[in-house]
Amino acid sequence: MPGIDQSEADFIAVIELHAQEHAAKESARIPAAFEGIQVNFCKTPDCVNFGVPEDDDGVKWSRDPAKTRRYAKVSAGKDYPHLRCNACKASFPLKSNEGIAQEVARLAGEAKADICCPDESCSNHGFPVGLGKPLYSSFGKTAIGSPRWKCMACSKTFSAPKTATHRQRQSHKNKLIFTLLVNQMAMRRICEVAEIGPKALYDKIDFIHRQCQAFAASREAMLPNLPIRRLYLGVDRQDYAVNWTQRDDRRNVVLSSATTVDNETGYCFGMHVNFDPSLDPTAVEQDAHDSLDYRLSPPFRKHAREWMESDYRASVARSAKLVPGGTVAC
Ligand SMILES: [Zn+2]
Ligand SMILES: [Zn+2]
Repeated sequence: MPGIDQSEADFIAVIELHAQEHAAKESARIPAAFEGIQVNFCKTPDCVNFGVPEDDDGVKWSRDPAKTRRYAKVSAGKDYPHLRCNACKASFPLKSNEGIAQEVARLAGEAKADICCPDESCSNHGFPVGLGKPLYSSFGKTAIGSPRWKCMACSKTFSAPKTATHRQRQSHKNKLIFTLLVNQMAMRRICEVAEIGPKALYDKIDFIHRQCQAFAASREAMLPNLPIRRLYLGVDRQDYAVNWTQRDDRRNVVLSSATTVDNETGYCFGMHVNFDPSLDPTAVEQDAHDSLDYRLSPPFRKHAREWMESDYRASVARSAKLVPGGTVAC
């Protein structure tokens, strides 16, 4: 283009790309599949449409049921689109496949805290050394005595710290602090009982968290090889009201969590909280603004899984309406 330099041309190209993506999302009936995930289908187990997503070949209505669309798009409120199954008449909210894929990646990342082959392109990467042979073999020790392993897939050798507590001065208090934490003792009381300061307590909580993840990862990596014919899982969810996080913003934060256990043994697969500490709220808001996310209804957004500033404002407006004449402090 004449009259503009390269950086301006790049900027315009990015804007045009966003606009194209936005137009495609805006015209779609249901959110597009993302990395093989498509959850917008009928959930009634004995319905012919169970597990079958919409294909856009169908017409709105036809005498021939095979040509009729499987689902009708209905609304359950502003920005709350539903699909209604034309076979069983059950309706369900549309969900963002992209948001689900992002959450799957986040939760899968948590489960890979254990030591494994460091080469990301290796087939053993993600499988902990605790599995032993035939994936890894013990390969002596490093000069400072840390154990070393050899990966049997790519032949690389790697080591780990001798013990997880090698830099801790009060490692004998870990067990006591873990016990007090899981028995729900208040943080200040734990500091008094264990005779440590708040900084040491928070460091120990991070350490215990890492150890628990590594423990769960090493056990669950064995799951694919266990002779399980069919796994029956029980799922429950719970909300936690957490105190305000900043002195100038005293809103209580409610975190939701889902817990999944094996029905037969009671083994807990984890309690997953809807909190992602890796995100920067300002950067997310800016990206949502740049990619015109706000103009779409939530299931079609790039940032569908995040609680945005506009969601918060809408929620405050809804609560204010529920209390006659009431205002909401924030
Ligand atoms: Zn159905
Ligand atoms: Zn390897």
